[in-house]
Amino acid sequence: MRVAIFGTGYVGLVTGTCLAEVGHQVTCVDIDQAKVDGLNHGIIPIYEPGLEPMVKENHAAFRLAFTVDAASAIGQCPVVFIAVGTPPDEDGSADLQYVLAVARTIGRHIQVPTVVVNKSTVPVGTADKVRAVIAAELSARGVDIAFDVVSNPEFLKEGDAVADCMRPDRIVVGSANADSVALMRRLYAPFNRNHDRVVEMDVRSAELTKYAANAMLATKISFMNEIANIAERVGADVEQVRQGIGSDPRIGWHFIYPGAGYGGSCFPKDVQALARTAQQAGLEPRLLNAVEAVNDAQKGHLFELIQRHYGSDGVRGRTIAVWGLAFKPNTDDMRAASSRRLLEQLWDAGACVRAYDPEAMDEARRIFGQRGDLVFCDSAGAALDGADALAVVTEWKPFRSPDFARLREALADAVVFDGRNLYDPAEIEAAGLAYYGIGRGRSL
Ligand code: NAD
Repeated sequence: MRVAIFGTGYVGLVTGTCLAEVGHQVTCVDIDQAKVDGLNHGIIPIYEPGLEPMVKENHAAFRLAFTVDAASAIGQCPVVFIAVGTPPDEDGSADLQYVLAVARTIGRHIQVPTVVVNKSTVPVGTADKVRAVIAAELSARGVDIAFDVVSNPEFLKEGDAVADCMRPDRIVVGSANADSVALMRRLYAPFNRNHDRVVEMDVRSAELTKYAANAMLATKISFMNEIANIAERVGADVEQVRQGIGSDPRIGWHFIYPGAGYGGSCFPKDVQALARTAQQAGLEPRLLNAVEAVNDAQKGHLFELIQRHYGSDGVRGRTIAVWGLAFKPNTDDMRAASSRRLLEQLWDAGACVRAYDPEAMDEARRIFGQRGDLVFCDSAGAALDGADALAVVTEWKPFRSPDFARLREALADAVVFDGRNLYDPAEIEAAGLAYYGIGRGRSL
């Protein structure tokens, strides 16, 4: 099937590549000329495991094209995806300017009956807005071309995006139109062989499903962080509590890790946007507000532990090694990452940072630029050189089993602040290091 996809970010590029991988003819459109030029020369703008070879192979096989020319991309395509960003507006609601700009472009250029598929995370009612914009453009052109707008929210996880896209656990299709649903089923058939993963529903429910999923996951994290903070104050170890509750299948093992707060491009903005949706509908979203407030406080918790160790003005003049800048492992994405809060707090308190991340160094250089109180290091070991203490912010695999004797030797103050509870306190203390984790009853 011929497919056009607007947006070559995490969602658009991965979706386009996976659709090409199973044999569809995909053209990805972006307004960022440099990104498109790069992709046409095999330069992948993001880090996602497995993505680069797939992009190159499908591009070389002429199943995957990249262009800024929207008109030619839309051409005779029966299906056009919208996969552009929906960043938070000033009041936290989703900013739809990019989605609606694409809708205008689609209205200007479609030539044949088209199913417009919205993959961006958008508030309930957006499909109606997209529909109205396209209809207005068609009417301005004086043409009558049939089209439908389907909601097909994306559930991929950054860091695992290719695998999620190739083996989705569900494919939500929101539409009232049986022909559109049938087309979506044909498009996704290669991903849907083992058992039926397509969940059909109405458009508004599909739009809300995406927010409900992210809000639920964010709630689990904030809940666990609150339990961790209680554990810390009452001398319990949240890691033991986690083992104790995760074994209950009604609770489950996933997403109950306490830590330095959730970040990324989705949870923070989606929880806020859903809260705004609730408010606009006349409902005070008390739980969502609490989820956000707990997370916001949690992002400052690692710094509180550092300050607790050193005393109120004791952080000044220290050098802290920071392992992990990305908002989670296996990505270079630093949007709303907890590391950003920690670094700002350390700098405000007069500390220097020696930072290392396996994939996010270029992104960090872009965000922070050159500054005297930040040294970008080539390896985890290099970040320790000349540091007083270590703070672990992202649970990358290579950070999970360090040589504690080497840490003891390298860190002048022999102290580790473990923002992801990667280490066994007894083991690390036996190596002669002071240890602070999240909710481990030892941080008082
Ligand atoms: P992104 O910021 O990585 O990429 C968006 C891309 O759209 C950019 O390359 C930008 O240049 C391009 N763009 C903007 N306006 C355009 C236009 N008019 N025409 C063509 N291209 C245009 O965004 P993302 O992370 O891929 O997210 C896209 C959407 O998917 C968002 O709504 C997001 O909430 C949702 N989502 C993201 C994830 C994730 O893990 N990143 C997961 C599920 C859903």
